[in-house]
Amino acid sequence: MIDFKNVTKIYSENIVALDSINLAIQAKEFAFIVGPSGAGKSTLLKLLIRQDFPNQGEIYFEDIDVVNIPKKLISIYRQQMGVTFQDLKLIECRTARENVEFALEITNKPRNEIHDTTQYLLELVNLKDREDLLPKQLSGGEKQKVAIARALANDPKILIADEPTGNLDPYSALEILDILKTVNSLGTTVLAITHDHDIVNKMKKRVIALEKGKIVSDEIGGYKYIKGGEKIDIEKEVKEQKEKTDNKEEKKTEKKGIKKKKKEEKNEISILKLSKSLEKKLLDNKFDTFDKLLDITEEDIEKAKITQKQLEEITKAIAKLKEK
Ligand code: ADP
Repeated sequence: MIDFKNVTKIYSENIVALDSINLAIQAKEFAFIVGPSGAGKSTLLKLLIRQDFPNQGEIYFEDIDVVNIPKKLISIYRQQMGVTFQDLKLIECRTARENVEFALEITNKPRNEIHDTTQYLLELVNLKDREDLLPKQLSGGEKQKVAIARALANDPKILIADEPTGNLDPYSALEILDILKTVNSLGTTVLAITHDHDIVNKMKKRVIALEKGKIVSDEIGGYKYIKGGEKIDIEKEVKEQKEKTDNKEEKKTEKKGIKKKKKEEKNEISILKLSKSLEKKLLDNKFDTFDKLLDITEEDIEKAKITQKQLEEITKAIAKLKEK
């Protein structure tokens, strides 16, 4: 199903994110991609969903030559894959159910199909009793479930989950894994990117370990990898890596927060670069701060006469901002 042939990605002269990767994943497989921070996991995902190009090599998804997909066909290509991102990208002003429905609405599915599919998916991820809650009212595990249900909405051939158990307590993490297992048993290929080696060890599935852009091991079983021919103490390594990255991330987030606040104080809504007419509509209805916009309710949307298209424009702009 997926074939990476001699793929290299170099971001700048000294950052080789992927180094001559050869990797094949079969349809209906369940595989983990593991490795410390900076190993190249996200880059692999970005290349697969054609968010970026390799400097060298070929990537195939079934018969599709991913590197050479024409730009206008990329969105159709991506509909074949369900992806859950690390930051989930849920629409904050929509309930769990509406978040799933939205994925079906944008592919123009008929109303009754949207209803039936959404109900089926909410049951599959065991979220029926929370369907009317907004993302901010849900726990981390429940939000992850919404993201999985939404990713499955258009019946993708593969589900790619980026850190599906990141920051979850062990019970919720196992519940999410159970859902991924069920999805896989129903015939969907599952690729999970993680550095949670506890859960990987419990699953006894294929584990592809990346380190410094190279595949250092690929076998069924647990999370272990070999360095210079010797098995290393992975628990210790991962802990040290995590501490280092956490410290760095904390400092980065702090700096970013201060910068963002300063920018927002100037003119918050304009950061989103919305069309002039939509920006005016929002300002006229007093959605003049980013927080207010994120708390927008269905009622507000109706009152301000914000169309589906405009809602989509806002969602896309927020997602873009988050990415930045
Ligand atoms: P992982 O997901 O395993 O943490 P990444 O794929 O994000 O690893 O990163 C692999 C390497 O590429 C890291 O050294 C990272 O700093 C670098 N990198 C990732 N994205 C970019 C980018 N847009 N520009 C420059 N370097 C990048």
